[in-house]
Amino acid sequence: MSRVCVFGGASAGSAPSYLQVAGELGAALAKAGLGLVYGAGGVGVMGAVSDGALAAGGEVIGVIPEALMAREYGRTDLADLRVVPTMHERKQLMHDLSLGFIALPGGLGTLEELFEAVTWTQLGLHDKRVVLVNVDGFYDPLLQMVDHAVTAGFVSAADRALLLATADVDEAVRLIVGPA
Ligand code: AMP
Repeated sequence: MSRVCVFGGASAGSAPSYLQVAGELGAALAKAGLGLVYGAGGVGVMGAVSDGALAAGGEVIGVIPEALMAREYGRTDLADLRVVPTMHERKQLMHDLSLGFIALPGGLGTLEELFEAVTWTQLGLHDKRVVLVNVDGFYDPLLQMVDHAVTAGFVSAADRALLLATADVDEAVRLIVGPA
């Protein structure tokens, strides 16, 4: 089965739209026949995307280090929960299981994960896509920063184009799968 890795906050964020759109993305993946790979958290944006996928009958694989099970309210109700020893093994397994990466709004962990994914594409270590779900313009400042880095001569136009963004979850699913 084809699967997509979704990054998102362990927190809910300050606007109800963050959890709302996370749930919609989970459902959209399930509807498209795509499995969800994520960090196994049971709360926040991470919890909401998994709730959306499960409610729509989708496959959900949670990957979490043992040490984070309590702190991130790791879901114990997943049919496929992979408890791994370290953060590095978590990331490796999430990468191995997925055809691409979608980032919902989130914090430092989400930002780190999405930049790692897109820099690996930049370096040619994989050819997986990265799509930002730009809920209520959440990612506008980040995209402006990357545009600034292009203007300043640090990021090529080709690498800037690797960061795909949309506010629409169905479009995010289309973008991650790519042209037929
Ligand atoms: P946050 O966006 O900060 O709420 O974190 C979302 C998820 O990213 C959580 O499951 C964190 O455990 C995870 N995370 C935090 N730091 C890292 C990191 N350096 N690499 C991979 N995942 C991380």
